[in-house]
Amino acid sequence: MENSQYNSTVTGKILITPDLMVLRIRTDEPRDTFKAGQFTAIGLLASEKRSPNSVVVEENLKPEALIKRPYSVASANHETQDFEFYISQVKSGTLTPRLFNLIQGDRIWVDKRIIGFFDLSMTPSGCNIVMIATGTGLAPYISFLRSHLRDHKETKLVVMHGAAYLWDLGYRSELEFINFNFDNFYYYPTLLQADDSWKGLRGYIENHLENKILEDIGIEINPEKTHFFLCGNPKMINSVSDFLAKRNYTRHSKKNPGALHIEEY
Ligand SMILES: Cc1cc2nc3c(=O)[nH]c(=O)nc-3n(C[C@H](O)[C@H](O)[C@H](O)COP(=O)(O)OP(=O)(O)OC[C@H]3O[C@@H](n4cnc5c(N)ncnc54)[C@H](O)[C@@H]3O)c2cc1C
Repeated sequence: MENSQYNSTVTGKILITPDLMVLRIRTDEPRDTFKAGQFTAIGLLASEKRSPNSVVVEENLKPEALIKRPYSVASANHETQDFEFYISQVKSGTLTPRLFNLIQGDRIWVDKRIIGFFDLSMTPSGCNIVMIATGTGLAPYISFLRSHLRDHKETKLVVMHGAAYLWDLGYRSELEFINFNFDNFYYYPTLLQADDSWKGLRGYIENHLENKILEDIGIEINPEKTHFFLCGNPKMINSVSDFLAKRNYTRHSKKNPGALHIEEY
């Protein structure tokens, strides 16, 4: 019998690798309008099975406990009932092994609130936007682009995505499509473990910034002209923040607006 807490249905699951997926969920009721880049919580009961591709861990959870975690919404903000998430499996984790065991049609819980301050509302029009991510930290930028690509024709938009292997580059075809069709959009995937067939960038994002990859396309690293968004691995966030601090960037907060926006997972 279905748990009465479940309020949504899995409508799609695309495994990009065995530990990386795009999960699509339809909520029974539409959610309020939200801002691209915000997150919501999703959850499953502890009684749900873990994926066979996860680590067996000792868990002291009551079967009726609802395990909830926050996830950035990757879909466009005009979709208020059909949501997309980009999720990596922490094999020893509590929720993600259960999420990876879901199949289309399964029921799930989704919070009624969509919240967070990682959005474009404090980026003045006329500013370039540089979106830097590692791994699933790409999710909020997919929502930015699906929601607002057409609003930013006059400025430059950049996505820099760091990953280990080529197959970890989720959303690559969508980003290459935008790159091909929009002159003001630049997509820079960079890999740490690529084989010889990879002709793109290699190594850490901060090294590419030091090597003036942005200046080469006419982007000035100046808080008045370019806003930076960072999402993902704490090491990347620290080193890119240090790089930007030397160029007079301050971290944005509600109290102290700045041109450096950070979402830590
Ligand atoms: C605002 C916000 C948005 C988020 N959005 C996303 C998203 O879009 N996609 C996504 O995949 N995750 C996202 N996360 C992380 C997510 O909420 C969970 O923390 C993650 O999925 C692990 O959950 P779990 O229950 O499986 O692991 P837990 O049982 O909670 O954690 C087990 C251990 O794994 C560590 N851990 C957590 N995440 C990772 C990781 N990625 N790699 C390695 N170790 C990890 C934890 O620090 C902990 O020590 C977001 C987090 C925040 C705060």
